[in-house]
Amino acid sequence: MANKTKFQAIKGTRDLLPPETELWNRVEQTAREVFGTFGFGEIRLPIFEPTELFARSIGLDTDIVGKEMFTFPDPPLLFNPQFVAGWTKLKELAIAYDPGIGSINQESQELILANSRKWALAAFTGMKWAIESSMADPVTLRPEATASVCRAYIEHGMQALAQPVKLYYMGPMFRRERPQKGRYRQFYQIGAEALEAITPNQDASKSPGKDAAVDAEVIEMVMVYFARLGLEGVQLDINSIGHSAPECRRGYVEKLKAALEKVKDKLGEDSKRRIDTNPLRVLDSKLESEQGIIEKLPRIGDHLCADCAKHYAEVKRQLELRGVAYRENWRLVRGLDYYMRTTFEITARGLGSQNAVCGGGRYDGLVELLGGPPTKGIGFAIGEDRVILSLQEAGKVDMAQGLDVYIAWMGEKTLATAIRAARDLRQAGLRVELPPVEQKFGKALGQADKLGARYALILGEDEVASGQWTLKTLADGTQGKYSEAGLLEFLRRQRGEKVKE
Ligand code: ATP
Ligand code: MG
Repeated sequence: MANKTKFQAIKGTRDLLPPETELWNRVEQTAREVFGTFGFGEIRLPIFEPTELFARSIGLDTDIVGKEMFTFPDPPLLFNPQFVAGWTKLKELAIAYDPGIGSINQESQELILANSRKWALAAFTGMKWAIESSMADPVTLRPEATASVCRAYIEHGMQALAQPVKLYYMGPMFRRERPQKGRYRQFYQIGAEALEAITPNQDASKSPGKDAAVDAEVIEMVMVYFARLGLEGVQLDINSIGHSAPECRRGYVEKLKAALEKVKDKLGEDSKRRIDTNPLRVLDSKLESEQGIIEKLPRIGDHLCADCAKHYAEVKRQLELRGVAYRENWRLVRGLDYYMRTTFEITARGLGSQNAVCGGGRYDGLVELLGGPPTKGIGFAIGEDRVILSLQEAGKVDMAQGLDVYIAWMGEKTLATAIRAARDLRQAGLRVELPPVEQKFGKALGQADKLGARYALILGEDEVASGQWTLKTLADGTQGKYSEAGLLEFLRRQRGEKVKE
């Protein structure tokens, strides 16, 4: 019998369907427009990259690299003849010991048992070799795109272009997380990065001020974008996590570690583990019982070096100059290793506990870490799925983009006219449905209604003969007669008004 397995989208992935995809398009189109006005150009990146690119940039002790990446050997193990041969040998050995789990003739059974040691070693050696060669260069579905943008900056020698190089991207990202509202395994991000080569004779004394202005403008751009979308309850949190030096973040982390060791017994398992692996992440904890303890921990703001403190003060001043409202949040450390100085996060309404719609920060040195020249960087990633959810919760989904005209043609002789009418109306930008076969009048109107059409164009043999076409407004049932040119003119005008709305 035929296998009737019903295929379903894999857990944590989903189909986006019309009319919701209209909203997705609007969110993406608005990003293109707004980011374009700030001088950002689009970069399109591969969906998979060498695993090492993410491991090195995001950091081994992060959730993303530690447990969320979709990584696979390339070529796949199952296509490796050495692996398959080893597996087959192992299976034969098992059956020779226990014929209950497969069939084997006595002669082979005796042969295998007599040579079992050799048999097992050969199987192991073949499989080990196969696994090692297969895992030598694993690839990973991108969990984020900043590392890819940096890789592309290096690969295309973009330090030779006018600096900063300003790029934006949009597309799917992949993380093996527990799926829930606002958290998927395939989700979508819209992000931007501003990268700037550090030239040897740069005046370092001007640097913190200049960088702060770039940071502030990038943040301003996201806020302008969210305002344009009509996103509600938008809240910007900022912080500075300094830079990795003994007199700055590293010194602070030592103090933090010491303070955490003292209260270790009162912390949950995750935080206990993080004291050694990634103490800053303890500040991220949402665990109720830890909140009082965290409030009393040393704060990074009190331990920034002079340059980082100056940079942070300037970011705040620049944001104020731009009229961008912010809240300082000393616990905002972000989960990725590559951030330094400015970090920020934006939350929005209607999302429950998954309310972060954008995260970003500065990452000077990341390009260098990936083998490129000394380069500064600042960027952000917006969670598009959550932006859409928030807009939907707020009812900001003006998707009155249904069908404009349903052509109810009746009689073979009217078909040529119907086809011409459809072509001309579509050329004028109207959404037209031309049924492939003629329908009875009642059925045609029913179908037009179901499709949410605004008008039905009725083309019978009389209409075609007289050149006077009937247009029915479906909302109120009124109808009028138009010449071909008159109809086009009327619908064009209607459309113009709809676009203005
Ligand atoms: P969170 O704390 O919510 O897990 P994050 O710090 O892991 O977020 P980033 O890596 O900074 O997130 O990604 C930026 C944005 O991408 C987040 O603010 C969020 O809007 C979105 N995002 C991250 N992971 C997911 C996911 N699994 N599903 C949907 N959106 C996501
Ligand atoms: Mg996360």
